[in-house]
Amino acid sequence: MSNDELLARHADGGAAACAEAAQGLPAPPSLHTLIVTCMDARIDPVALFGIRPGEAHVLRNAGGIVTDDVVRSVTISQRELGTRTVYVVQHKGCGMATFTDPEFVAKLREECGAAPEWAPGSFADPAESVRQGVARLTDSPFTVPDMEIRGFVLDLGTFDLEPV
Ligand SMILES: [Zn+2]
Repeated sequence: MSNDELLARHADGGAAACAEAAQGLPAPPSLHTLIVTCMDARIDPVALFGIRPGEAHVLRNAGGIVTDDVVRSVTISQRELGTRTVYVVQHKGCGMATFTDPEFVAKLREECGAAPEWAPGSFADPAESVRQGVARLTDSPFTVPDMEIRGFVLDLGTFDLEPV
């Protein structure tokens, strides 16, 4: 499997399917909803919530944590594209619980000769991390006051959502 595999799929129907699905759709998400979740390759947020093109913003990073860049994107999503509902969805068995920030930074120092300016963002308890992310967005001066924000922990066995 090489880098070319996905480009081949893009050429073999991927681009055409997306062009058809997005035809005529405006940029603002029609469900006024934004989802923050983990980049874990087993999670398919589009399938999980039955999202169709044009309906929602999906932000993904390692852990699904609310970083500076997530605050940036949520702010633009809300202020420029009219979204109001935010789901913060982290999951059980996340790789971000398999190391601590000091351990990861020490590894980077050893392997790369430098420490990052950003925090790795590891966490032991996804529910607690979701609570922190929800608080960070709620406390931000840039998010809209009428934001509806909900937090969940996803089980990767059943794909059930536990509200936090
Ligand atoms: Zn994860």
